[in-house]
Amino acid sequence: MASRVLGTALFRCGFTVQDAPKYGAERRGAPIFSYVRAAHQPINERGTIYHPDLVVVTDDTLLAVPAAGTLQGITTDSVLLINSRVSADTWRHRLNLDTTVLILPSTEDVEDRAELPHIGATCAGAAACLLGAIDRNALAGAIAEELADLGPDIVARNCDSALDAYDAMGSNHGVVREGIAIAAEHYTAPAWIELPFDEARISAPDIRAVANSVQVRTGLWRTMRPVIDYDHCKKCWWVCSTFCPDSAIEVKDNTPIIDYDHCKGCMVCVGVCPPHAIQGIPEYLAQQDDAIATADASQPAPDKGEADGSATANR
Ligand code: SF4
Ligand code: SF4
Repeated sequence: MASRVLGTALFRCGFTVQDAPKYGAERRGAPIFSYVRAAHQPINERGTIYHPDLVVVTDDTLLAVPAAGTLQGITTDSVLLINSRVSADTWRHRLNLDTTVLILPSTEDVEDRAELPHIGATCAGAAACLLGAIDRNALAGAIAEELADLGPDIVARNCDSALDAYDAMGSNHGVVREGIAIAAEHYTAPAWIELPFDEARISAPDIRAVANSVQVRTGLWRTMRPVIDYDHCKKCWWVCSTFCPDSAIEVKDNTPIIDYDHCKGCMVCVGVCPPHAIQGIPEYLAQQDDAIATADASQPAPDKGEADGSATANR
């Protein structure tokens, strides 16, 4: 939606525009991306954008996911806008970047980052301001056009979010500079490698090892982490382990144990557990807890008597 709004706003301002989304696997929390390409001349290029002038990251947890490719192709001339509560200096340091990093303050306090409300309109509004080529009226008109089917209330709320984000970026209006196009005469053809054709018996893929799917750590995809409260678990054992679509809940002595290397965070187990003994918590908060627990574990053990009980949750 962000790319549709931004593309339509640019079109309303006289640009020739392309905008297109690219989806990966259809699953909760899967990284998706879309791009917008705009010019005052006809655009002949139809391929992927390899060196974006502006990258907008709607969810800062994606920056740590290599498969999301959020930093792919950025140059020292690119502008990186991150929807985050962490400062630009911290991100520049973390990512070791020598480029312009800006923060769109994340105001929504949501548990699941996959459900940020109005995030498409918000990011489109911020991007519109950074480009410096779109005025507020064109942005509002684009939102009204793209979201018309959803009714006036939703249009109004998205419009408010987009214009707030536009205004919040006011001090950086027009900071994005158009990259230098690679002229056709400088195009270098790929160095083709001729592969001889083999019979299917030889050239078709052949899986030689059994049970290798366990090596694919699908737990890295998770945005929400199920956590079992063993104080409330009735040890019925079969409900959560049976319903888990990824067989990621093992049962030992009637006790369910979640395999976090392969739990994708679909939250099915949270929904089916009869006594509600499984809680879903945002993965980034769970990882913060993990880091604290690891740091605590590296400290010298307290004297006997100072210890105050033990954690019972399966984290
Ligand atoms: S479904 Fe709930 S109560 Fe039953 S074993 Fe799983 S966590 Fe425990
Ligand atoms: S969230 Fe629960 S049901 Fe879904 S994959 Fe993880 S353990 Fe299985």
